[in-house]
Amino acid sequence: MRFASTRSPERIASLREAVFQGLAPDGGLYQPADEPDLRPLFEGLAEEASFVDVASRMIRALLPEVADPARLAERAFSFEPVLRPPRGDISVLELFHGPSCAFKDFGAGFLAALMEDFLDEERRRAVVLVATSGDTGSAVAQAFSGRKNVDVVVLYPSGRVSPLQEKQLTTLGGNVVALEVLGSFDDCQRMVKEAFLDPLLRRRMTLTSANSINLGRLIPQSFYYVWAWSRLRRHHLYFCVPSGNFGNLTAGVLAWRWGLPVAGFVAATNRNDVVPEYLRTSRFRPRSSVATLSNAMDVGNPSNFERLSAIFAGSWEAMRREIAEEVVTDEETVETIRRVYEATGEILDPHGAVGYLGAERFLAKLSGPQARSARVVTLATAHPGKFVEVVERAIGKRPELPASLRRLQDLPKRSVVIENGIERLRALLLDRFG
Ligand SMILES: *Cc1c(COP(=O)(O)O)cnc(C)c1O
Repeated sequence: MRFASTRSPERIASLREAVFQGLAPDGGLYQPADEPDLRPLFEGLAEEASFVDVASRMIRALLPEVADPARLAERAFSFEPVLRPPRGDISVLELFHGPSCAFKDFGAGFLAALMEDFLDEERRRAVVLVATSGDTGSAVAQAFSGRKNVDVVVLYPSGRVSPLQEKQLTTLGGNVVALEVLGSFDDCQRMVKEAFLDPLLRRRMTLTSANSINLGRLIPQSFYYVWAWSRLRRHHLYFCVPSGNFGNLTAGVLAWRWGLPVAGFVAATNRNDVVPEYLRTSRFRPRSSVATLSNAMDVGNPSNFERLSAIFAGSWEAMRREIAEEVVTDEETVETIRRVYEATGEILDPHGAVGYLGAERFLAKLSGPQARSARVVTLATAHPGKFVEVVERAIGKRPELPASLRRLQDLPKRSVVIENGIERLRALLLDRFG
């Protein structure tokens, strides 16, 4: 498969270029330039295929630049998705069993293993530079922790991430450096941007990013749609995706374009409903985000919309034939967590709850023969233990923290405090990696 920028489809890039550049030189996002027909692969999957097995077949089919697909899949994914048995017509696909307990572990884990391989083949080193307001940085830091040929520098705003997030960033050590910046998240982002443009730094080291628009994070997110389908292929299958930046949904739509027999998708959002509004009205109106309880989805200008739109050749009609929309308020989110817990004992996190209610509403609107064999798989993107306050408010008791995060609480924090500004960052990077 070849790749190209959403903004200049004629300029083809290799996987390697796309992964190390992150953003394309024209400011667009990299995405597949070909549409392979993977139906034979899908149909050949065993019903009990492991996730690593599905992933290595997908890698082999999609990414010929990867020398050893099975080995890459094993190193990328030390964890699996879990498909919960259905309640009625809804199954929950839990994607939070990785090291940071959120679905971003799939994308970050794959990107880290892939970069490690490429750097090894080329016998060079790179420094991954990330600014984070919390969650993305911890998935990236954990994914790159202990990998060869790569160092990770994570910048976070001092005092402005949750205590748990700070532990996730600062307890890894080794090749992960946590920089506690005396400034805001915007300051961290500005410092990272300036570092990438700094001539001296660029001469002295290879700097690369690992942010959520990286193609190396998008592709692996298609794998769990295939894995879930392989177990539920007898059904008329829909996927409901709680969405913010829309990378997750875009990856599912890619799998469908490659021939996965999915009946359709549901884009579920909180009140930041720019894409649902587009699907209803054909008008795309990005705006400032508003804060909600499902805060990893508080996005007012979803960057992957550009990819999604390109997949449908810019056609609103074509997109809305495949993607339905549901919008869920904070009150409904809390109410859904309570109701699902009381009915089944299962605890959803706020993001998963947005998806769950979206799936219920979508099913209630289906009619005719489709409705009888329909099954919605809704994606649970984070562990409920990461959202203690909201969950406790809903169900009246505190959810358990997953063991991997509980362990962190006893480890010492190790961060380097630095002043806001590129000079301090430049000096530190030159000192350590120059
Ligand atoms: C990032 C994130 C989302 C949103 O995913 P997108 O790919 O940006 O749409 C949803 N839930 C959680 C928990 C997240 O961390």
